[in-house]
Amino acid sequence: MATAQAPQPPDDRLSLLSPVWPRSTNIAVDRASGVHLHAADGRRYLDFTSGIGVTNTGHCHPRVVAAIEHQARRLIHAQIAIVHHRPVLELAAELRSVTPPGLDCCFFASSGTEAVESAMKLARHATGRTNIIAFQGGYHGRTVGAMAVTTAKTVYRDHYQPLMSGVAVAPFPYCYRYRQDPEQLTAWCLAELRHLLLTQSAPGETAAMLIEPVLGEGGYVVPPAGFLRGLRALCDEHGILLMFDEVQTGFGRTGKWFALEHFDVRPDVLIMAKGLASGMPLSCIASSRALMERWLPGSHGGTYGGNPVAAAAAVETIRVLRDEGLVERAARLGTLLIQQLSALRPRSAVLGDVRGLGLMVGCELTTPAGEPNRLAARRVRERCLAQGLLLITCGTHDHVVRWIPPLIVTESQIEEAVGIFTAALRGVERDGDAGHGS
Ligand code: PMP
Repeated sequence: MATAQAPQPPDDRLSLLSPVWPRSTNIAVDRASGVHLHAADGRRYLDFTSGIGVTNTGHCHPRVVAAIEHQARRLIHAQIAIVHHRPVLELAAELRSVTPPGLDCCFFASSGTEAVESAMKLARHATGRTNIIAFQGGYHGRTVGAMAVTTAKTVYRDHYQPLMSGVAVAPFPYCYRYRQDPEQLTAWCLAELRHLLLTQSAPGETAAMLIEPVLGEGGYVVPPAGFLRGLRALCDEHGILLMFDEVQTGFGRTGKWFALEHFDVRPDVLIMAKGLASGMPLSCIASSRALMERWLPGSHGGTYGGNPVAAAAAVETIRVLRDEGLVERAARLGTLLIQQLSALRPRSAVLGDVRGLGLMVGCELTTPAGEPNRLAARRVRERCLAQGLLLITCGTHDHVVRWIPPLIVTESQIEEAVGIFTAALRGVERDGDAGHGS
């Protein structure tokens, strides 16, 4: 049972950290294990955030910890342009066993946004074309190039103009927002994309299309499979690279190793981070060797890419996910979670939509008029926190409560979390603090 929280006085030293980092809680975390965070004041929280989709194997999985300890004693840093080492080669080989055939040549970096930058640079070099087509509501990171393809919220772009040029943004089939059926919306989005190729970014200038196969920060939106297949066909027709940003959806999160398997679409570049190394900073882009050979040696790189300790953590992460059947577990428990949350909908005044794949589930909260309800999402989150359940939100209006527990979560922990959420939802509805939009 999770323990309740009383407000804690903030640590004075917090003022030494830049306020550019907003914090959704004041929890001072001391340690974490499995699905639980343990605060310095002794309280325990059910962590249904996984540090934003990172700790898929659970916090401090003993096998991952042992791999990190072992590697740290042998070699902590080795610059990959100078020497190579066992962990990075082992990782490239392990990745090959879980990524689709043909995506077997890896470039490693440290964060998701760096991997996105890398993918865009690869696309430009390999095709000799400049433009990138991104999709409405996408989130790809906050470095300068990634910002230009991120349209989940204006806060990521405001006052940073001019952004990287050569980016065009096409609609994403967000059925609930457009209140349209999947087939119609898919046809419309693909028609708009074709129009964009005639009006904004000529195919001969378009290096790549970059998309999250399931929108993450933009609201946990699963597109119809036909849309991603349509992108593949258009890319093939025009020699454009298709790049999937699976930073959040990867490593079992959606009940498959990668979300692309749900749609049966293979991208030319697969972008990975977060769940890859259970919390060690590591990211990767994978493509065919032939494509990587068109990237001029030395034109991209970095000091830490393929760090031995992070790579050792990633190797063990992949093995743990496989040995413990965590990918299948995410599929099974995700279905259960969606069923339980969907059952709340008919009697709820604010729960507009429940959607997701595997253990990547979003609850879109709405006003009586069906508008995004940011206030209700915040109140629900706060009430859950007071009962020891840590949840975060996403969506352009921060109106989607997202569920991303570690994949080792148990059925009873899911039931406990849904129980806390149900009470929070009812409380917000009953007390009339559900708000009237964002
Ligand atoms: N792409 C996606 C889909 C993400 O969800 C994120 C992080 N939320 C990023 C890229 C950026 O990753 P990072 O924060 O490691 O730079």
